[in-house]
Amino acid sequence: MLSPFVRCGKCTAPMRGGVRGGGHVYWCRSKTDGGCGGCSRRGGEVDRYTELVIQDHERASLRAIEQLPPWDKEDELRIVRQKITELGEQYRADNISGSTYFPLLAKLESDERKLKNERQRHEAARTQRMEAIPDLRRQWADPNFALEQRQAAVAKSLIAVVIHPTGPGSRISTRARSNPSGRSTLPNRNDASGPSKAMIP
Ligand SMILES: [Zn+2]
Repeated sequence: MLSPFVRCGKCTAPMRGGVRGGGHVYWCRSKTDGGCGGCSRRGGEVDRYTELVIQDHERASLRAIEQLPPWDKEDELRIVRQKITELGEQYRADNISGSTYFPLLAKLESDERKLKNERQRHEAARTQRMEAIPDLRRQWADPNFALEQRQAAVAKSLIAVVIHPTGPGSRISTRARSNPSGRSTLPNRNDASGPSKAMIP
């Protein structure tokens, strides 16, 4: 799944993914094939990094929504409407003449129209933005979400997953698009036992 992004921590060559010894494994190609041949890792361990991708996507989605907050001129619109009502009351009570009332009313109604149009445009843009944000976690759980779509989603978050040789202090780290120089590292499961025995040297 992460094949296009997995790189060897020793030589930085892209690693190959495939089935070896009955399990999915990523391994560095041989020296004659452009790698160093010195690093391999069980696929399951590496594919856990999709969780980081999903979390990164969720953070980006939240930022996208925050950048377009709800329309902030509701008060302004309410005040214009209140003035229209008050003006009408003054006119009906004969406190103001028609020659004063109608031009003022026209101006207030024009303001109200502008505000209503603005609100409609704003809300449409907001709805559109929210609908455009896919629920990646839900998509990921859907078996019909194709491999290419998954890899495209990963590419938006990760530049590379770097696999360091197994052994004491072994680790997998990622280079995230949002933080290319930094590292996100998930704790290694069963670091000392299980998986390393199944490793291909
Ligand atoms: Zn290598």
